[in-house]
Amino acid sequence: MNCTSCGQPLGAVAHIYNDKLLCEACWIKIGAPQAANSPAHTVLIGQHDDAARAEASKSVPNENITTVSAPPDTAGGNAAPIPVSNPALLLQGEQVIWRRTFSKGIIHRHPSINEVLTNMRVCVVDDVLGSIVRAYPLANTSVAVTNSRRMYGGVRTGYGRGGLYTGTGTGTSVTYGDIEFVNQGNVVLVFHHVADPYGVKNLVMAALKSSGKKL
Ligand SMILES: [Zn+2]
Repeated sequence: MNCTSCGQPLGAVAHIYNDKLLCEACWIKIGAPQAANSPAHTVLIGQHDDAARAEASKSVPNENITTVSAPPDTAGGNAAPIPVSNPALLLQGEQVIWRRTFSKGIIHRHPSINEVLTNMRVCVVDDVLGSIVRAYPLANTSVAVTNSRRMYGGVRTGYGRGGLYTGTGTGTSVTYGDIEFVNQGNVVLVFHHVADPYGVKNLVMAALKSSGKKL
């Protein structure tokens, strides 16, 4: 990831402000708005391993997903907002529209990594650190679905009286895909192995539309 302002690669910490992801130098140059010096604007880039998150999403893709069925601020506007574990991480007017939570670790599992889509940003939140570890403004960012494939939810294998068996359940198929967030031709963040990726993409587009921003 690079600074949206100067284009330099980002260091361990970056700042999100006015639809920009800024390096430390640009953040200070812009006047380091003291008022905006809250955890919601700080991204601890050096504290997160994207490969580990990709692994977790492939092994337990549907661990814990919360989605609003209607984008916020549309007619009626009665979609209940999804809370994040730490409300201080949200910007003013920011509403969560989709969130997926993974347990960290294979043996000692505890929920810790959240992939979050809001009407303003795409974020990864680490509950243990209590911080945002990846974030990108959605304005001027496009959303692409790649590697989409259909999978059958009812297939299972196990041991029965006759030995190993493969059983099919109801046979409902679900589409999975990777959701890529692209800015100026660069993939800035990927959510891997997401169920119904086109539905999630539509949610983002509807939310951005209702907040007056183009996708
Ligand atoms: Zn910069």
